[in-house]
Amino acid sequence: MTPATTQIQEIIDEVHTKYKKVDDGTVATYIPELGRANPQDFGICLATVDGQLFTAGDWEREFTIQSMCKPFAFQMALEQHGMQKVRQHVGVEPSGDAFNSIELDPKTTRPFNAMINAGAIAIASLIKQTPTEAGIAAFLATMSRAAGRTLTIDEAVLESETLTGNRNRAIAYLMRNFGIIDEGVNESLHQYFAQCSMLVNCRDLAMMAATLANMGRSPVSGESVFDFQLIKYVLTLMFTCGLYDYAGGWAYEVGVPAKSGVSGGIFAVVNRQLGIAVYSPKLDAQGNSVRGILACRDLASHLGLHSFEFTNTGSNFMQWLCGD
Ligand code: GLN
Repeated sequence: MTPATTQIQEIIDEVHTKYKKVDDGTVATYIPELGRANPQDFGICLATVDGQLFTAGDWEREFTIQSMCKPFAFQMALEQHGMQKVRQHVGVEPSGDAFNSIELDPKTTRPFNAMINAGAIAIASLIKQTPTEAGIAAFLATMSRAAGRTLTIDEAVLESETLTGNRNRAIAYLMRNFGIIDEGVNESLHQYFAQCSMLVNCRDLAMMAATLANMGRSPVSGESVFDFQLIKYVLTLMFTCGLYDYAGGWAYEVGVPAKSGVSGGIFAVVNRQLGIAVYSPKLDAQGNSVRGILACRDLASHLGLHSFEFTNTGSNFMQWLCGD
């Protein structure tokens, strides 16, 4: 351990201890299977672009990725179809509304962006394959390469969401009505539900975030997973829309591209430096992890990670870490 790595570990431990006591929020139950999460779980992982890991608490606990699949699916759609075609199906404006709102941009009849359910279902319709299981397998394979280990689907969560996902069905049929998605509505929904049901832990998510930070190259294998020229679009959407109707507050206070999910995870990307993942299942009114937001806010502040920070180590975190 160098002085810098010791200091980072101390900061992570401190943040974990500080917020372990916080008990606010409620575990999501609208997907019944998510209600089985242990409300006490609290894990943190920070992964650097050169593959160093810093962890605290329940960082190995698995949970479903939920909406945190959306940036990765968006990246895959951009790679497969190009910016122009994707833009014909999904906008890039913050909606200012909840993640599951049944609305389309009235000016365009497209979903506002790919970070809310409507946009993510439209993206799922673009990356699904025939048979549907092939598209799901392709998603799992890409995510596994980013995480550096084989990821799988939680079949119980997939079944639970399939049985109760009528709101998402309503959104999908609204989009079908406007010709935003094709006639394979059930297939698009199945692709989306399966993506959301993929199991990860904090290490996986931090590593996937670090892969985005590392110009698309896995910090573990060195393999190129994502087209680096398209990552800037994904990070921009995460920055402006990643936390739904808290996106502005997050950008203001934490200041890095991030994405949350109703399982209680949040991951953040510090471009060219590192990925952070926090898991704690109790959510606030916007559906974001209460302890996840607090922990990220403190980490960004203590490590100087805010994108527009100029007094601290944010833009040169790796130089600091490597002692240059
Ligand atoms: N699968 C969830 C849904 O569609 C994802 C929502 C979320 O994580 N915000 O409702």
